[in-house]
Amino acid sequence: MKAQDICREKSAELFEKAKNYFPGGVNSPVRAFKSVYGTPLFIERGDKAHLWDADGNEFIDFCCSWGPLILGHNNPQIREAVEAQLGKGLSFGAPTALENELADLIISNNKYIEKIRFVSSGTEAVMSAIRLARGYTKRDKIVKFEGCYHGHSDSLLVKAGSGLVTFGETSSAGVPKAFADETIVIGLNDKAALEQVFVDFKDQIAAVIIEGVPANNGLLIQDKEYIQFLRDITASNGSLLIFDEVITGFRLGFEGAAKYYDIQPDILTYGKIIGGGMPVGAYGASAEIMGHISPDGGVYQAGTLSGNPVAMAAGIAALSILAQPGFYEKLESTTQAFVEELRGFIADNDLVVKIFTIGSIFWFAFTAQENIQTAAQIDPASMEKYKIMHRELLNRGVYFGPSGYEVGFISAAHTKEDLQTALAVIKDSLLVAFA
Ligand code: PMP
Repeated sequence: MKAQDICREKSAELFEKAKNYFPGGVNSPVRAFKSVYGTPLFIERGDKAHLWDADGNEFIDFCCSWGPLILGHNNPQIREAVEAQLGKGLSFGAPTALENELADLIISNNKYIEKIRFVSSGTEAVMSAIRLARGYTKRDKIVKFEGCYHGHSDSLLVKAGSGLVTFGETSSAGVPKAFADETIVIGLNDKAALEQVFVDFKDQIAAVIIEGVPANNGLLIQDKEYIQFLRDITASNGSLLIFDEVITGFRLGFEGAAKYYDIQPDILTYGKIIGGGMPVGAYGASAEIMGHISPDGGVYQAGTLSGNPVAMAAGIAALSILAQPGFYEKLESTTQAFVEELRGFIADNDLVVKIFTIGSIFWFAFTAQENIQTAAQIDPASMEKYKIMHRELLNRGVYFGPSGYEVGFISAAHTKEDLQTALAVIKDSLLVAFA
């Protein structure tokens, strides 16, 4: 049975006001709730796995700020580290010991990078990685995959059209065609298409970039064999392989998707999880490749807020917890049990929905297909079911991202009780979606 709609009066009032200040009333488009029911919820605070909105509604949070809050909201160690730094200064634009400490924590626990550069967002990390790949190889073209999101820098805001190989068609006004022409977009899991690209653009491809596990357009889990193919074909053509681990880094394990696939990419990018939720990103590679970055090399990249001391303090606290033995095993077994329970329910009730999962990430796909590995396999019409489910979930106190293409995340702050409560809510909401 449908639940009664929660009160969104204050959120609606705030949204109306926000429209006077921001395009669409938001500072990042998906927050506008365009593809789900109702006005966006204005969040007032979070604690552990819980969120409260401006109307006082409480939710169990599976969005976790789009992934980084693997320790939940208001983690005491992160909070204390941030508070301790606040009294010493917010920004110096000069080196601090905190940067060394966080870099050491990352590099000594991650065999895939030898040197790192901190930046302020995932977009910046990937944009810089692309420049580095171009500077290193002295080539201009990059290959990306349909359904992989890499932030909003010009070279990466391109999408695939139909056909085997498509030159980037811009996904955004304001991206010069000349930029988009340097980006080649092909489908995931299609070896022939990539082989053709390397024939058509011989000696022109600087890099192939893929999300560690594509998780921005559903959860498109690739086979190891395909990732190995990417590794081999890039290496044999003198191109670099970039893993964008903004979601998977420190989420699939401390060493992310590189470790999961046991494959050494040439450049890796990381995102906000490094800052425990503060604005941070990073890219890393071998010392040899990173030697091309300014001031050692000719590839320029800089930032006043790079290595910001408050963000570094938060990151040290967060990653120190993640580096503890058993952290990921526990989180993954919790996620597995959660997903298995839902799968059992789905089977018992003959619902046409699948749950794909890896690590502590999961995604509801309203499909009968056993496996979804490309963006083209996702039926946009199936998002209608998500829309119904999302409304029910919110009305019953469970918060997921406001689009059916988004994945859910489980954090270490989700208690057994939280998950039991959420399971009951999700089951009821699924039944409404299929009623
Ligand atoms: N790469 C990937 C894989 C992402 O998921 C995202 C955003 N979630 C980005 C890059 C861009 O990161 P940001 O929004 O922090 O700029």
